Amino acid sequence: MAKVAINLSTGSLQQEEVIVGIDLGTTNSLVAYIHPEDKKPIAINDQGRGTIVPSVVHFTQQGETIVGTEAKDYLTTDPANTFYSVKRLLGKSYKDLGEHKDYYGYKIIDDDSEGLVKIRAKDKFYSPIELSAEILKELRERAEHSLKTPVNRAVITVPAYFNDSQRQATRDAGKLAGLEVLRIVNEPTAAALAYGIGIDPNEEKTVAVYDLGGGTFDISILSIHQGIFEVLSTHGDTYLGGDDFDRAIINYWIQENQLVADTVHQDKQLSQELRLKAEEAKKALSQQQLYVSKVGESIECGITRHKFEELIAPIVARTMESCKQAMADAKLQPEQIDAVIMVGGSTRVPLVYEAVSTFFGKPANNSLNPDEVVALGAAIQADILAGNRKDILLLDVTPLTLGIETMGGLMDPIIPRNSKIPTKAGRQYTTSVDGQVNMKISVYQGERDVVKENRKLAEFDLKGIPAMPAGFPKVDVNFILNADGILKVEAIELRSGVRQEVEVKPQYGLTDQQVEQMLMDSITHAKEDVATRMQIEARTTAEQMLYQVERFLEKNGQHLTEEEINLTRENVQQLKDVLAAGGDKDAIYAAVDRLEEQTSPFAERVMQISIKQAMAGKKIE
Ligand code: AMP
Repeated sequence: MAKVAINLSTGSLQQEEVIVGIDLGTTNSLVAYIHPEDKKPIAINDQGRGTIVPSVVHFTQQGETIVGTEAKDYLTTDPANTFYSVKRLLGKSYKDLGEHKDYYGYKIIDDDSEGLVKIRAKDKFYSPIELSAEILKELRERAEHSLKTPVNRAVITVPAYFNDSQRQATRDAGKLAGLEVLRIVNEPTAAALAYGIGIDPNEEKTVAVYDLGGGTFDISILSIHQGIFEVLSTHGDTYLGGDDFDRAIINYWIQENQLVADTVHQDKQLSQELRLKAEEAKKALSQQQLYVSKVGESIECGITRHKFEELIAPIVARTMESCKQAMADAKLQPEQIDAVIMVGGSTRVPLVYEAVSTFFGKPANNSLNPDEVVALGAAIQADILAGNRKDILLLDVTPLTLGIETMGGLMDPIIPRNSKIPTKAGRQYTTSVDGQVNMKISVYQGERDVVKENRKLAEFDLKGIPAMPAGFPKVDVNFILNADGILKVEAIELRSGVRQEVEVKPQYGLTDQQVEQMLMDSITHAKEDVATRMQIEARTTAEQMLYQVERFLEKNGQHLTEEEINLTRENVQQLKDVLAAGGDKDAIYAAVDRLEEQTSPFAERVMQISIKQAMAGKKIE
């Protein structure tokens, strides 16, 4: 029940607004809130329809939109207009889908491989953001109906490995659903909160969150200290989950009934019936040892728990490999993990529970409903943001370094990886060429020293810098990373006040594997990167030196002897030759030193002359 308050200044009745927590899942979504009386989080069960809303959207022939269990029924009868797993497409381009393009039963448009994907339903095109918004709208309506109060604000969870683009897409989906998204929270953070971990700011804990849903798996290792939730590592597989268990059962039945696999797969109706039956069998086997049923008249669908475990053992083993990897990345041993949390419906499978508990050497926490735990945590986070738990401050960290490109294609880190967010950081830059009026700011994400190995997030020009000599303008570049991990970059030239800012909305997303790959690459290529950095720095130094010497000769050549000019030209040419020949950094620095040594007395001499002339009332440049 919603509380009612009176606004003392106006005397009007005010409803105390409910902020909901939403788990927008790949397979299922839920909405939860904090009960105003007992202050406990509960998942909303509107009209007894259950707390789980399948993340499926169907557009009917009559142009109606159906979401949830009812929409799921159309997966068999109208697959082209029934959309599932859209979360996997959020913030992604067609190119990003790679080998998984055929996974979807509906039409994904492939005309623009770089832009965000579009999905076709009849003669209309939808973005995954719009489809996710339909799911969020449904959740919002259920919450409003059940709580009998308007719901305008929410906290939405995303996987820890979601990048800016995917987080932004989630936020946009919320906006489209008419929700003000107060915070995007990492799913493992929410799961830990639901178990009360991290609520006490003095508590220090290292937690493993094992999340096996219908189609995705991820393991996250969190370090929680002083209210800060730091993601130490994540690993997983975005195409592994309970659906694979179902498929293993289907294949077993195909074999047992001596059916031809291809014929079954081509018969959409039959394969869907088998799929539903297999899921039913799997769920039953979480409780019992044997499942027996039939599809149609003749297909026998029986399986024992023992057989089921044998079938899924390799899949479970793959998740354990990920756990090992995540632990290695976090540089931790299983005994250093204080608590293990089970998330996702598939953790109800006894074999999964045993494997996880054995790996970490302690019983995993599964006392809360694994389908609801993320939504419950999101509701707690919403309550914190509503100001109801003033002592708690939750912070996340950024998974990859953010920086800009500087001379020679080098990455200049501005916000290092694992910085607590929200955060703001900046650096001052200047121009390298006289009279430069534009400055290109290219924003990158990644751990490598050279930008071309990192990922470009955005690029913009700071235009209208007044013409000044090289090195004069003072350009402050600031990165403002908000609590959701969304980046705003602003550049300002301090002498003129010229200013430009962009909200970084990258065109397409990184998969979790790519993020991991980027981190791994930064380690394996560290040596190589240092060498490249040094080489680029040498070239940049040389180019600046050449620019300065040539400018000097142009302006002040009359103060040098012919011999001096010739020698300078010779040294300039030598340096250019070294650069043209792609010389290594030592050769470049040798030539730079020679040129510098030979020309450095000139500056002194010109200075003296200029002073004399100035004193005589004349001015030289
Ligand atoms: P989620 O994506 O977290 O909602 O997880 C849904 C997955 O959990 C689906 O693959 C379900 O089939 C699976 N699941 C739900 N309940 C059970 C159960 N009792 N035993 C085994 N798997 C289950």
